[in-house]
Amino acid sequence: MTYDWIAALAYIATLVVLTIVGKKLVFSIPVMEEMRLENREVDKVKMSRESFRDGMKASENIGKYTNLGFFILVLPFAVGFDSRPLWQHLVEIFAILAIFDFMYYWTHRSLFHGDILRKVHALHHQARKPTWSDSLYVHPLETFIGLCLFLVSIPIVALISGGPLHAVSAAIATLIFTQLNTVNHTYTRLPKDNWFFRTVDYITGVHHAHHVDMNHGNYATLTMFYDKIFGTFEEPVKRETAA
Ligand SMILES: [Zn+2]
Ligand SMILES: [Zn+2]
Repeated sequence: MTYDWIAALAYIATLVVLTIVGKKLVFSIPVMEEMRLENREVDKVKMSRESFRDGMKASENIGKYTNLGFFILVLPFAVGFDSRPLWQHLVEIFAILAIFDFMYYWTHRSLFHGDILRKVHALHHQARKPTWSDSLYVHPLETFIGLCLFLVSIPIVALISGGPLHAVSAAIATLIFTQLNTVNHTYTRLPKDNWFFRTVDYITGVHHAHHVDMNHGNYATLTMFYDKIFGTFEEPVKRETAA
């Protein structure tokens, strides 16, 4: 086991660059920019409340420290640069996301919607009609648990595969995780004329169905695969307005 801090830095650089470029590309589409502005209007009202801003800040802070600890103590042991075929990159990305989604599904369903942490999770469920800012309005304990479940998926896959994962594969998996967790709270009402818009509307619609009240399914956060397997899938909801 080697401590490859250069690979860990490459992971962070890849994640930052892909996030910036991806956002620029997505918001160069006029209808996506329109959706962003519509979310901002509603978010402005939510963020005018001090308790909401404090809640977002507390979640952001615990996220920062959790990420920092992981980047220093764990990540350099779990990533490297050894070249590998494209299929292996794809398998690594898929495995990280599938293992995380499975662990998150059961944590969300049994802890956050069970007796133990229901009250903690109720903070996030105050949003009956989520918009962008609600992805960050999460109790710090929930942020910590959710983030740890994702981060630990990286060394788990490295251990299963018998060596470090490629830094770029791990960064792409992280990008998909962070963006899907934000996108699924965003309000969207997009044209139905292409697959990209339909996919984004589906992603937001299924998580918005989860937010209708605390007794609705759709517990997984990246795909609806486990909800369909374990019988907790709910049809997506459609909203005419963001507020
Ligand atoms: Zn929930
Ligand atoms: Zn949510």
